[in-house]
Amino acid sequence: MPDRYAVIGNPVDHSKSPQIHAEFARETGQDMVYGAIPAPVEAFEVEVRRFGKSGGRGLNVTLPFKHRAYGLATRRTSRAEQAQAANTLVFQGADVVGDNTDGVGLVRDLTANLQRALRSRRILLMGAGGASWGVCGPLLDRAPAALVIANRSMDKADALAGHFRACHANGRVVSTAGYGELSGKRFDLVINATSAGLEGTMPELPEDLFARDALAYEMLYGRTTPFMAFAAAHGALVADGVGMLVEQAAESFHVWRGVRPETAPVIRLLRQT
Ligand code: NDP
Repeated sequence: MPDRYAVIGNPVDHSKSPQIHAEFARETGQDMVYGAIPAPVEAFEVEVRRFGKSGGRGLNVTLPFKHRAYGLATRRTSRAEQAQAANTLVFQGADVVGDNTDGVGLVRDLTANLQRALRSRRILLMGAGGASWGVCGPLLDRAPAALVIANRSMDKADALAGHFRACHANGRVVSTAGYGELSGKRFDLVINATSAGLEGTMPELPEDLFARDALAYEMLYGRTTPFMAFAAAHGALVADGVGMLVEQAAESFHVWRGVRPETAPVIRLLRQT
């Protein structure tokens, strides 16, 4: 019997994780299958335990359950603890280990695939939802000069910044700003971790946001968002979130199987479909 894995979420039918992990398994010759579990909002924990009890080896967790996955884990990695959320669960005997690979996925896409240095750079992170919580720790690990968090609801930006100022060795470089306070600040990297692109909108940004050779990184993928169009029109290089998606999956695969798949062919494949 092949080892069983799945992505669990609500909704989950749009997820590309089954396709990505099938490619990784084929490429690395791992004997495993990977499915998708749609979980009713009230029954997430029940579904996770059912999967574990039936012999499942691991789960990826997507919206809106990453925080609850962290809550049900009996052991947590330090990167899950920093993010206060888990996107990867490992069933180990009686334990459910919660991990978070989103931030490592983003940083690997930025540094390995897109060849961007983060050390001593000025980074703007837009959004203070689950994705932003996941990426702050790995971004700070790279010792940027500044990590400014902007969000529509400033209380959420303040909570996120306060958490990382307190828990991360490089937390002193974290600050917050409203979208209306960004003029003249100029960033080397601007990450859009809002879901505004899903509605075809973007936060209002100043014309002088991007430093020379800046990269604008849109976490969404599969469409050109208003943020991507704005960034291109203001001289920034633009990337979407396909690389992050594949890199976080590769890190989960490595956690489960102990082997690291090649990501470039899978990123190419997803861009074609
Ligand atoms: P959440 O729902 O947790 O957070 C959404 C964030 O977007 C909040 O900060 C919210 O602000 C902000 N927002 C929503 N609408 C608007 C708007 N119209 N204007 C300004 N801000 C807005 O989502 P996640 O953090 O989980 O995900 C964020 C995005 O990242 C999604 O698009 C998701 O698809 C993508 N993502 C991509 C991944 C990848 O691998 N490429 C991985 C994870 C996420 P407020 O707090 O004020 O409501």
